[in-house]
Amino acid sequence: MYSDASKAKCKECSKVYSLGNVQPKLQTVSGLKGHLASCHKDAYATFLKRAMDDGADRAAKKAKLNDIALKQIMPNFVQPSMKDITEKRLVWSDDNAIAQRIDKTRRHAAIHSR
Ligand SMILES: [Zn+2]
Repeated sequence: MYSDASKAKCKECSKVYSLGNVQPKLQTVSGLKGHLASCHKDAYATFLKRAMDDGADRAAKKAKLNDIALKQIMPNFVQPSMKDITEKRLVWSDDNAIAQRIDKTRRHAAIHSR
């Protein structure tokens, strides 16, 4: 078992490669990838395929989740046209009492949700 989080061991030949950093965010697998590409071509092909499937999967899931979330939050959501927005602005003028109250509530929420 490995204790040094800044290093990774090649599963194929047990060589140790540096990931550059102990923090996952700052790590790089380029050294390991290069090693796979030159020494273990089969493993590298598998790695690439998995990385690609993974990426496609994640993008598809994210798109679907966004779609579901939007439908749940705003079931009747329709992208407003520029004309709609302009007309709504005319109805909800800034000195409108309700508009002012909404504004105040929004500011209040913005301050306290931080
Ligand atoms: Zn290796």
